[in-house]
Amino acid sequence: SPLRVIVIGGVAGGMSAATRLRRLNETALITVLERGPYVSFANCGLPYHLSGTVGRDDLLLHTPDSLQARFNLDARVHHEALQIDRAARTVTGRQTLTGEPFTLPYDRLILSPGAHAVRPPIPGIERAFPLRTVPDLDRLKAAVDTAGPHVVVIGAGFIGVEAAENLRAAGRHVTLLEAGPQVLPPLDPELAALVHQELDRQGVHVATGAAVTRVTDTHVHLHSGACLPADVVVLAAGVRPSDQLARDAGLDVATGGGILVNDHLQTSDPLIYAVGDAILTRDALDQPAFVPLAWGANRQGRVAADHLMGRPASYGPHPATAIARIFTLTAGSTGLNERQVRAAGLTPTVIHTHPASHAGYYPGAQGLHLKLVFDAATGRIYGAQAVGGDGTDKRLDVLATALHAGVRADDLADLPLAYAPPYGSAKDPVNMLGYVAQ
Ligand code: NAD
Repeated sequence: SPLRVIVIGGVAGGMSAATRLRRLNETALITVLERGPYVSFANCGLPYHLSGTVGRDDLLLHTPDSLQARFNLDARVHHEALQIDRAARTVTGRQTLTGEPFTLPYDRLILSPGAHAVRPPIPGIERAFPLRTVPDLDRLKAAVDTAGPHVVVIGAGFIGVEAAENLRAAGRHVTLLEAGPQVLPPLDPELAALVHQELDRQGVHVATGAAVTRVTDTHVHLHSGACLPADVVVLAAGVRPSDQLARDAGLDVATGGGILVNDHLQTSDPLIYAVGDAILTRDALDQPAFVPLAWGANRQGRVAADHLMGRPASYGPHPATAIARIFTLTAGSTGLNERQVRAAGLTPTVIHTHPASHAGYYPGAQGLHLKLVFDAATGRIYGAQAVGGDGTDKRLDVLATALHAGVRADDLADLPLAYAPPYGSAKDPVNMLGYVAQ
């Protein structure tokens, strides 16, 4: 009889697992259970609809019908999985619209339940809108379109900064409140400061070290005594792995949250895989890491499907690489920052450079700030950060590739990178990092 696979969660990780499984096995019965109303939506694109840059329909990449037609997948929206019975090999749940219960048998299970927004214990915080799903977006957009112009965003991580950019572009008065000492926690403070300045320049009011004490119908109150007008409040204070279903099923879950998996993305039950924002992976130092980013979810979905179908596939330590646009700036990081390396008990060497994006004599060169964090004795690269204009993403990706491939810091000088005056320099900024490291 055909292999029965159930995938729980129909967004990045779950859908890449399901579609890859179909390519490898034409006969398997593949059922995708999604509690929300949409499968396969462009999670990362959500903030860009707030400014109208991306149309709402363009965020919906597939429907259950298109998945059925194109991949022969049985994708069921409004289906919430509530319990896994590992002995009986069944998933029990309920249809969210009708309340009707269901029980489905499986031979293999793939968990991709994602992460959920942290709601800090602040009085009135229920009023704040998270931005994780299409219904979240619809609610936030409706509020922004009908309420007054003052928006307060709580949390200056990637979601907060991208939301702030797009709400500002939509003409709103935006205040970005960050409890920590800087915006964008993956960056070290001196690079985050450049992002902070750009937000200021573009008219986003940023307050770091801001402790929200109360949210009322009209205002957000801070510990400092400040009281900010807030017609709409956005919740972007971080996310936690949605690991309750796995925990209830007796699968190994980290104390601090996150489903534990082996290199093949199997949970402590080898018939059950887990991928995406709900799991812990390992960083470049082989330490457990929570990396809720789309690249990993997509890659893990494919690896889990490959392994499930008997292919040799594994997902080992990976540097987290993230990037965001903040108005005219691009900012990103790969691997560990200086703070994280020091926290791991290591003493890194650090190089800062401030090159131009391309040959200075060719018009339009823009500034770029690079930081390389590495071990001087061995040349091992721990991580890198880039903030700047044109070409920032390219340098970051080259550095991510180098880091993942184990290229030594001094060997960055040896990378044969593309060059013509509109694009770079004969000694590319990445090569220059290598020369400085030598
Ligand atoms: P985050 O962890 O990146 O940022 C949350 C921020 O909120 C932190 O800076 C934290 O200090 C702050 N914060 C927490 N509690 C607060 C409080 N009470 N008041 C004020 N500030 C508070 O989380 P996120 O922005 O919600 O994003 C979730 C995940 O999705 C992250 O891992 C992020 O990297 C990822 N993501 C990435 C991208 C991208 O790569 N472009 C885009 C969106 C989201």
